[in-house]
Amino acid sequence: MKLANIRNFAIIAHIDHGKSTLADRIMEQTATVSKRQLSEQLLDSMEVEQAHGVTVKSRSVRNFYQADNGQEYEYNLIDTPGHVDFAYEVSKSLAASDGAILLVDATQGVQAQTVANLRLALKHNLTIIPVINKIDNAAADVAATEAQIRALRPEFADVTILKISAKTGENVHQVLEAIYQKIPAPQGKPDAPLKALIFDSQYDSYQGIIADVRLIDGTLKSQQKLQLMQGGSIFNAQAVGIFTPDMKPVKELNAGEVGYIVTGIKDIASVQVGDTLTTAENPTKNAIPHFKPAQSMVYAGFYPKGDTSYEALKQAISKLALNDSAFHYTPEQSEALDAGFRCGFLGIFHLQIIQERLRDEYHVEVLTTAPNATYHVYLKQPQPKQEYLTITNPAKFPDFSEIDYVTESYVKAVITTPNEYLGAVMKLCDQHFGEMVDLDNQQDLVTLTYKLPVSEIAYDFFNSLKSITHGFATLDTEFLDYELVDVVKIQIQINYAAVDALDIIVPRQKADLIAHKLVKKLKYTVPRRLYPMPVQAMVENKSIARVDVPPLRKNAAVNGEKRSISKKQQLLRRQSLNKRQAVKSDIKLPQSVFDAILNIN
Ligand code: GDP
Ligand code: MG
Repeated sequence: MKLANIRNFAIIAHIDHGKSTLADRIMEQTATVSKRQLSEQLLDSMEVEQAHGVTVKSRSVRNFYQADNGQEYEYNLIDTPGHVDFAYEVSKSLAASDGAILLVDATQGVQAQTVANLRLALKHNLTIIPVINKIDNAAADVAATEAQIRALRPEFADVTILKISAKTGENVHQVLEAIYQKIPAPQGKPDAPLKALIFDSQYDSYQGIIADVRLIDGTLKSQQKLQLMQGGSIFNAQAVGIFTPDMKPVKELNAGEVGYIVTGIKDIASVQVGDTLTTAENPTKNAIPHFKPAQSMVYAGFYPKGDTSYEALKQAISKLALNDSAFHYTPEQSEALDAGFRCGFLGIFHLQIIQERLRDEYHVEVLTTAPNATYHVYLKQPQPKQEYLTITNPAKFPDFSEIDYVTESYVKAVITTPNEYLGAVMKLCDQHFGEMVDLDNQQDLVTLTYKLPVSEIAYDFFNSLKSITHGFATLDTEFLDYELVDVVKIQIQINYAAVDALDIIVPRQKADLIAHKLVKKLKYTVPRRLYPMPVQAMVENKSIARVDVPPLRKNAAVNGEKRSISKKQQLLRRQSLNKRQAVKSDIKLPQSVFDAILNIN
């Protein structure tokens, strides 16, 4: 296909405004898939996507369109997710697109994510086609929605705004016509040396790494000798192809096109999203500017559970990381849990999705420790060549006597909410130590910019925000910097033995409250023994909260003997002290113990 007849575009919208439904209609009306094949929401094929009703992965599909002007066009459509934890997926899709369809539900009008995604698309210099959806719905207010869209940007004041029903297909033909008329053809030099962006990848046990590519210049053929400019690997392309949406091999991919390449590479670490692919014989002069790697916001430990072995977990994690470049991991060792991994995520929902994908796609069971933020710890006696220690695992937090001061990662949080919830949102941010930076009014919506500590938004902030705004607000976060914080480590001792996997870092002013809540929760989640076990929360070597886990049943050693209560207790204590060694190594912590920490706030 010649460059002039190719269009690469994404569909962006607030959640449930009809992205996936419009993608289905486009595939149907271009006869990419037949009506019979078209199960609903064809692109949301992952189990987690069906379970949560959300799109998690972006997906690209090539469609051929016979236009009214007699020409044939190649439409590469990229479906994108909506949740903030997957904004990285959205920006990867936008990096591979030249335009975007901005879809707005006529029954709801412009919503927070409409504004947030439009902002993201403009950052990538995309041409925007605004479209009003769900005109078939009796509750649709097309005129009001149109007025809202026009007010979004001065450029929208006099553009045509299409009015469609993605469900019935009404006027979808107008969208198909607008795509080639409005969105520019990709720029690129077909005769220049090969230059392609790797914007996604997945692992296949037979074929090795399969990478999604967007060609900038040149041609990509199977059996070509290729090289990765950053990773350095040189390999032969095993096959190239397109998504229809199933994988379909083609002879070659050309400048401007989107498709996949089977690399045959089995070493997972050698193919990185964002790398530039070129030929080994005639490489391009300049690599594509690297797009910012995703920065992990929260960390948690992953440990094998049940029948899953460490090796199996390692295999699964490394393959999944390849398919989700926003997910990071490094091996770690815990006294309580043995060998596992410290994993980095963009947020708690991201963590949950990864856990479910490990279960659904790789059949491994994972024990997850309580998530935490990143800390920079400045020591009184700094180590040579190291200004501070970067702590992503609370167990590695140094003893308080060695610490000079601590800084924590902060994010810039952009929250867009309907006007009526402004007060509630400001209150929520206050409660989480937020500092307002900016407030911007657009008709019925307000966009608030706050500076917030990551540990404060890592847990339930997003859910609280959704619930106080009845689901209408959106949250967009971006790493800002590290700021001074006053935090302490709470260490949990079970039966006088420290359990490193339960360490948490909390603000000093909340330590007492959290410690008390925590030991109370642990009282009912720590597996019982034959003898009572004290559970203590220690801060800076002092026990600040304590409960006793009741014994399974009365202990034989003291049962039936006529001793005073205090004698009995003394004996029990001695008994458990004797078992200290055993306790340290054989106590099996169930997932519920870690969930108790997660639910503490
Ligand atoms: P996404 O989250 O943006 O991908 O939205 P979906 O495509 O999953 O659509 C959300 C819901 O809106 C689904 O129940 C669709 O059936 C429904 N929907 C989508 N388009 C239309 C439309 O044009 N008219 C009506 N009445 N419903 C629609
Ligand atoms: Mg969808």
